[in-house]
Amino acid sequence: MVATGSGTKSGKAFYVTTPIYYVNDAPHLGHAYTTVAGDVLTRWHRQRGERVWFLTGTDEHGQKVLRTAESKGVSPQEWCDKLVEEAWKPLWQHLEIANDDFIRTTEKRHTDRVREFVQDLYDKGEIYKGGYEGPYCVGCEEYKLPGELLEGTGENAGKQLCPIHKRPVEILKEENYFFRLSEYADKLLAHYEANPGFIQPESARNEVLSFVRQGLQDLSISRSTFDWGVPVPWDDEHVIYVWVDALLNYATAVGYNQNQETFDASFPADVHLIGKDILRFHAVIWPALLMANGLPLPGRIVANGWLLVGGEKMSKSNLTGISPRQITSHFGVDAFRWYLLRAIAYGQDGSFSWEDLAARYTSELANDYGNLASRVAAMVGKYFDGVLPEASADGDAEQAVHEGLAKAVAEADRKIGDDVEFQAGLQAIFDFVKQVNGYISEQEPWKVAKDDSPEARARLATILYTAAESLRAVAVLLHPFMPASSQKLWESLGAEPALGPLADQRVQEAGEWGRLPAGSTVTKGAALFPRLEEQPGA
Ligand SMILES: [Zn+2]
Repeated sequence: MVATGSGTKSGKAFYVTTPIYYVNDAPHLGHAYTTVAGDVLTRWHRQRGERVWFLTGTDEHGQKVLRTAESKGVSPQEWCDKLVEEAWKPLWQHLEIANDDFIRTTEKRHTDRVREFVQDLYDKGEIYKGGYEGPYCVGCEEYKLPGELLEGTGENAGKQLCPIHKRPVEILKEENYFFRLSEYADKLLAHYEANPGFIQPESARNEVLSFVRQGLQDLSISRSTFDWGVPVPWDDEHVIYVWVDALLNYATAVGYNQNQETFDASFPADVHLIGKDILRFHAVIWPALLMANGLPLPGRIVANGWLLVGGEKMSKSNLTGISPRQITSHFGVDAFRWYLLRAIAYGQDGSFSWEDLAARYTSELANDYGNLASRVAAMVGKYFDGVLPEASADGDAEQAVHEGLAKAVAEADRKIGDDVEFQAGLQAIFDFVKQVNGYISEQEPWKVAKDDSPEARARLATILYTAAESLRAVAVLLHPFMPASSQKLWESLGAEPALGPLADQRVQEAGEWGRLPAGSTVTKGAALFPRLEEQPGA
């Protein structure tokens, strides 16, 4: 079976991006959440047989980075280099993020193309010079509308605060270059109307719709009060607004104005994964910039919700205080990758809780899934000397397992591959794991094994084959989420000699019953998910 890809033009890669992250600090849980989601989504599509391109990177210009570097007594470039090499790239490696490229906005391949893009807009009359004065949040690097500001209290009494950062805004007055964003409101609304799936989830779409329906102001796209940025090509007193610079990474990284062939093979992105705090930039400014320059618009913008920290033990910390490595050192990388997508409906707000993670790890990963894998391997070892027996006669119980698997594969593929709903996809896979556990409890192979008759041996073979073949499919389906443990299971089932590497297994084939050949060598390795010994702070 050959995958044709969903919604991708023939020959074009399924192109997924994370935001490029601000390098004013080390990566935290929120960055890891979006990046893992992108990795799982692209691995899923790779296992559909599609060509995939997965991009992440860092946003290195702007006042916030400049101020942080100054406070550390280093140049902004030195600050960025250090963080990218010592914090960002190593964390993505640690988390097994299989990105195809990593773009930094200080790279020449990016800055040259940004200047060309903006020059094109200027030549087309989309940019003009004007004055602007308004409340500005350095945290957002954005002018705020007076109506959206919050009244400060306590030490901020009498001041107006950014609704996102809850910090006082600064009144900025600048002579800047402006992009005629106001002229794109109707075109954007028409696009949202014609493409109901353009912004996910529904709550994000509604927020953007009501924002754009109020009408749009022209966008200041240059700054002259600091110089850490890409110079405006026709006026080097100005640098290009950091958000315009940043958004263009999605085009420059795949060869915009540089290599038409690679550009056409990837652009536009099929899915931009973002946090909802940067929704307007992606759902309003980015498509308007593309329209203005005659470029195609992305397929979908999928916003994840706020990630909060719940649970007693972590209550003193805030989100940025939790390093992903604190979690992986205790639970392992696989459980970390799995947990946030399992616990929170993608797109909704949710909380990270150490206790919830520990509870889910124990019940779903260690007990339901890990125990199933080790019990089946142990029984094939004990009753058949580690050689997978042939299933002789499938009865109703086996038929139910076959049907359960087919249903799980279809549901997981639709939810994860098409809808970017990881939680529902994982639910389908773990429901199937539960079903197989129930099958074994009901069939009681350890009792069947006490009978030496040929009929009983055949029955025992059928039960263990059914369980092992189910696990073969589970390894394929969980591989995008948990690459290392899935690989262990794949090896334990002896699947590779007959079926090839796990990464080459197609999602579409996962539900085809009987792929794991009888005669495979099954070995019981170390537990996929070892018991948690103790919890830090307990
Ligand atoms: Zn802000």
